[in-house]
Amino acid sequence: MTETDRLKGLADRLLLEGTLPPEDLRSLLLHHDGQGADYLHGLARQTARKHFGNRIFIRGLVEIGNCCHNDCLYCGIRRSNRHVERYRLDRQTILECCRTGYEMGFRTFVLQGGEDPWMDDERTATLVSCLRQAFPDAAITLSLGEKTVEAYRRFFEAGANRYLLRHETHNPAHYALLHPASMSLDHRLHCLEELKRIGYQTGTGIMVGSPGQTADHLVEDIRFIHDFRPHMIGIGPFIPHHDTPFAHEPAGSVELTLRLISIFRLMHPAALIPATTALASLSPDGRERGILAGANVVMPNLSPLHSRAKYALYDNKASLGAEAAEGLALLDRRLAAIGYRIDKGRGDYDNNRRAGCHTSEDTTGIEAHDLKTDILCIK
Ligand code: SF4
Repeated sequence: MTETDRLKGLADRLLLEGTLPPEDLRSLLLHHDGQGADYLHGLARQTARKHFGNRIFIRGLVEIGNCCHNDCLYCGIRRSNRHVERYRLDRQTILECCRTGYEMGFRTFVLQGGEDPWMDDERTATLVSCLRQAFPDAAITLSLGEKTVEAYRRFFEAGANRYLLRHETHNPAHYALLHPASMSLDHRLHCLEELKRIGYQTGTGIMVGSPGQTADHLVEDIRFIHDFRPHMIGIGPFIPHHDTPFAHEPAGSVELTLRLISIFRLMHPAALIPATTALASLSPDGRERGILAGANVVMPNLSPLHSRAKYALYDNKASLGAEAAEGLALLDRRLAAIGYRIDKGRGDYDNNRRAGCHTSEDTTGIEAHDLKTDILCIK
């Protein structure tokens, strides 16, 4: 058996069985020739199309503020970066951003921001309530970091539906390398468990190629995500920011990020997996390549133009063109060019197609070996 055949067999088994032993996951991550990678991406793409057709969900991203009390070493808006011009959008501005998005057809709004003590539980709950009243048929996703369980519950009761909190790495030593001593992996994992318990559609994910990351760390992440079964999985390459301690570290690999997207798609067929802005920032066709590797969500930016550059988590972050809400027509054309179209529905996680459920029904219609003739080149 050739190495390519072995890798194809691993991809088939991953789809059928939902997981693989660590050494096989390592093989899928590390030992890739072009044909093996094309096969993995093609199988993941077919899996996504079985669940979602050729529809790509859009989420309107509003970056509500770049003030943060944390000091994550990789982040451009970390507390220690004195060169950032800080901002907070007021409630009215956030509502107007969402109104603009609603009129364009968005039915999910993602409020993202640093962990800002000014934006306390009361203000956040009030904001969520106002959005819920203004847009009763839209989904509200929060990405505001670690909060108390009471706060998460309050936001949920105010009308929030989904919460994104990437764990970034499941290895404690690696987590400690990326974060200050005041932050704890255990606490982050506890937050994720609580979010799910409260009833949020919960998203987690990782940075690919962050400083100090090894293949074994990635295998740990894959196994954690397998067990946690998130509704949303965000995978983006690490990109350095010039005003952080990691300024001179190399960016993560686009190819490895794409392989991980495909692996997660095979393991979690029904998960909502974005082609992230970081991927589009690192590669001009990163968004399309992410979709062709199995992603099914994009998150155009609805934030006011004047604040976008200030929300610089890393250098050269894309926020214009097809990454922007005002570039929806361009996004539509770019998706059409690869055989996809925008879906303006809420795009909730479908519990009837439980992520990671590998029943025979899940795989009906996907004949892995037939894909040999259906491998599109995503290079
Ligand atoms: S990654 Fe998030 S929590 Fe960490 S410094 Fe940046 S905005 Fe704050």
